[in-house]
Amino acid sequence: MATSTKARVAQRRRGKTSRNHRPAHEQLLYYFGQTRTDGGGDQKPLLGGKGANLAEMTSIGLPVPPGFTITTQVCGLYYEHHEKLPAGLMDEVHSSIGLLEKETGKRFGDQKNPLLVSVRSGAAVSMPGMMNTILNLGLNDESVEALARETQNPRFAYDAYRRLINMFGDVVVDVDHAYFEAAFDKVKHKHHAEQDTDVPADGMRELCTSYQNVYRKHHGNDFPQDPFKQLELAIIAVFRSWMQPRAVKYRQVEQITGLLGTAVNVQSMVFGNMGDDSGTGVAFTRNPSTGKNEFYGEFLVNAQGEDVVAGIRTPQPVSEMPKWNRATYRELLAIKQKLEKHYRDVQDIEFTIERGKLYMLQTRTGKRTGAAAVRIACDMVKEKLISEKTAVQRVPAGDLTQLLLPSFSPAAKKSAQVLTVGLPASPGAAVGRPAFTAAEAVERANAGESVLLVRKETNPEDIDGMHLAAGILTSTGGMTSHAAVVARGWGRCCVAGAGRIQINERTRKLSVNGRTFSHKDVLSIDGSTGEVIAGAVATQTPKLSGDFSRLMKWADRYRTLDVRTNADTPEDARRARQFGAEGIGLCRTEHMFFEGDRIRAMREMILADEPKTRKAALKKLLPLQRSDFIGIFRAMKGLPVTIRLLDPPLHEFLPQDNESQSEMAKRLGLPVSRIKARVQQLHETNPMLGHRGCRLAVTYPEILEMQVTAIVEAVITCRRKQVNARAEIMIPLVGLEGELEMLGRRVRETIKEVAAAKKFTGNLGILVGTMIEVPRAALTADEIGKHAEFFSFGTNDLTQMTFGYSRDDVNTFLPDYLRQEILARDPFQSLDVTGVGQLVAMGVEKGRNVRKNLKCGVCGEHGGDPASIRFFQKVGLDYVSCSPFRVPIARLAAAQAALVKSTA
Ligand code: PEP
Ligand code: MG
Repeated sequence: MATSTKARVAQRRRGKTSRNHRPAHEQLLYYFGQTRTDGGGDQKPLLGGKGANLAEMTSIGLPVPPGFTITTQVCGLYYEHHEKLPAGLMDEVHSSIGLLEKETGKRFGDQKNPLLVSVRSGAAVSMPGMMNTILNLGLNDESVEALARETQNPRFAYDAYRRLINMFGDVVVDVDHAYFEAAFDKVKHKHHAEQDTDVPADGMRELCTSYQNVYRKHHGNDFPQDPFKQLELAIIAVFRSWMQPRAVKYRQVEQITGLLGTAVNVQSMVFGNMGDDSGTGVAFTRNPSTGKNEFYGEFLVNAQGEDVVAGIRTPQPVSEMPKWNRATYRELLAIKQKLEKHYRDVQDIEFTIERGKLYMLQTRTGKRTGAAAVRIACDMVKEKLISEKTAVQRVPAGDLTQLLLPSFSPAAKKSAQVLTVGLPASPGAAVGRPAFTAAEAVERANAGESVLLVRKETNPEDIDGMHLAAGILTSTGGMTSHAAVVARGWGRCCVAGAGRIQINERTRKLSVNGRTFSHKDVLSIDGSTGEVIAGAVATQTPKLSGDFSRLMKWADRYRTLDVRTNADTPEDARRARQFGAEGIGLCRTEHMFFEGDRIRAMREMILADEPKTRKAALKKLLPLQRSDFIGIFRAMKGLPVTIRLLDPPLHEFLPQDNESQSEMAKRLGLPVSRIKARVQQLHETNPMLGHRGCRLAVTYPEILEMQVTAIVEAVITCRRKQVNARAEIMIPLVGLEGELEMLGRRVRETIKEVAAAKKFTGNLGILVGTMIEVPRAALTADEIGKHAEFFSFGTNDLTQMTFGYSRDDVNTFLPDYLRQEILARDPFQSLDVTGVGQLVAMGVEKGRNVRKNLKCGVCGEHGGDPASIRFFQKVGLDYVSCSPFRVPIARLAAAQAALVKSTA
């Protein structure tokens, strides 16, 4: 597990480094501008994503306002020094401000031509909206007058000043934003202003005074007039925001660990709100939802950046920009080309136009949906921007889920009552009941309900609820609002800015076009079209695009691991084969016993007192099993099928409540007492560690014989009909050589007996192997390997038994472990490489010591997890097996694992 900030702070506090022992060569601050540029794009861990890219953009000649970046290391030092800035930092800040003054011809806090700066956070991994920003720093009671004179726009100057006092009060000294809002309302009322923009210059000047009063009243001190004091406090506030709860939570949800902290970017200000020839915007060099190669984004005339992101005003699409300023639009298109050519990837940019002059404020790799990632990767290969190998590595394998996600069925959609249409912020289809706060969404989702988080707009405090909701619906904000950006990153369905919806959080109701819905009503939202629909609309599985198959073909070219699927029905098998599965790695036969009338025969078998009656019951099951296997062999068309013999404890097949027990007694013509007695007899305290897996076959060999007979007869039937059936018989939960020796022999004898009885003389080629899912099996794999033709690692049970965590009950404490970073991730989702991984590696090595060509695979849930697949590649497995929908993910992840290996 990567070390957390907390752990590192503690480690440092124990005395590894200290304030006075900072290495002399450690550069605290990196300048970027015309005079010099210290850093570059490859220094993200040190300069944060934003800082590294500002340096890079400056180097390639883009118009970037000059500034400097205080490194993430300084953030680490800040926490190490009990939340104090390291010695010498402010001296370096002073001299860099000096350089900025020279370059811009302005002076910090000047009474004639003041230099203003922004102070922004920026970690190595982007955490949108999670940390703090302060703009217009450097304004005070005197420099604001200078700015008013210099711009000949007093309203603008006082607006900038009141924004600074508000942001500074809010972020640096924790004065509640509501106090500032109340003061603003009073000024608006006095000046009969409806909107903020209606307040005249005089009003803004008054507002600055009343904001300073608010500041003094709730903080105790005056708003600082010394610009360097402002700057120092702002830098500290950004560092502090690294550890504020919403940022910590975001890192947890996104599994961001091992970072030093946030960098601080101090940059000379440019203004998008200097009049109608100014503006600001955010854009992507390609459409981040669909991947289409079009300049895509939004801008606002006469506004500052946060107005776009916060969703306060609804921006215009950039395609409208030529009507406003054709030259700037052309310049942006040229920058789009330049950035893509330089970074060879889609960029997400922020820009500001100050009195007609364009400035770039940020660029970073653009987050995109799974569908867009695939299309962009394929298009960029066509455009010769990247190679096939890069394309394969570029698409996050897990994001393919979004392409394989359900959408609404067009037929069902035809009769759907569309209530309103918002912005298609993040694709997919979600059905659920509205939850009106994040807390409500968390509570109801945890109770198993499918909820839609319905908010006017979301903010970073809502991320818990956003994460657990089936979908997110907001009534304000654009495609780049908080809800849209976060949902897209997670692949969560989201409709944003559905402006006709009125949300009343208090009454837990929303109304739209005269209709009202409560938390009890079901709604459907379509994240691909923006539609909000009354009631539940049927969903369907998606059709895959040509780009998708192209990418998969490239992935297959580079991967060395085979990808199989876990499937128990011909339908699942067929779907998995369409997704590219190269065999079945796990057919759980127990699932076949629950269907229709079969459970009756199964129960008869379990109730039987002696082998004879048990065999009679098994006889009824045999033809059913045989036809199941024939169906699967046909569906798999000659690909190998690993069939696991019965695994779960038998009590799982018997009814546990009185009513069902009476009903079963009636159906079987037996006294209820008999059933109750058997249920009682089969009761186990720890069934997962009990009478299950191969232990069943030791006690009831006739079950094994029936299943093997059904498999062999199915293979023979298929072969006689020219269907190439390839079976592999797998014995579960083996922990002792003796178990496999005995049961393996029994399986092989049964195969021979059935072949003889059926007069089949050809080569059946049935392999007999075992699962390695008990730690002892891995530890003694050299003994077990003597009797197995293949190993399949059952990493679900292996994890359960290695950790001693019950698979079924782990959620009672796992969230606490994750929250407190005792565990970095859920070990049932992503393999615990350090612990359980050792057993896998040892199992493979020991097994192959006694059988050189032992085929090894994995069929636990980890077989579809990209991080685990990287590990399986490393330890030399032959294949991974996962659920049908994860097959494409596993194919891509396997290719990425192979490419990492080949380029490592
Ligand atoms: C396993 O234990 O990893 C496995 C695949 O078997 P099951 O999940 O059926 O116990
Ligand atoms: Mg298992």
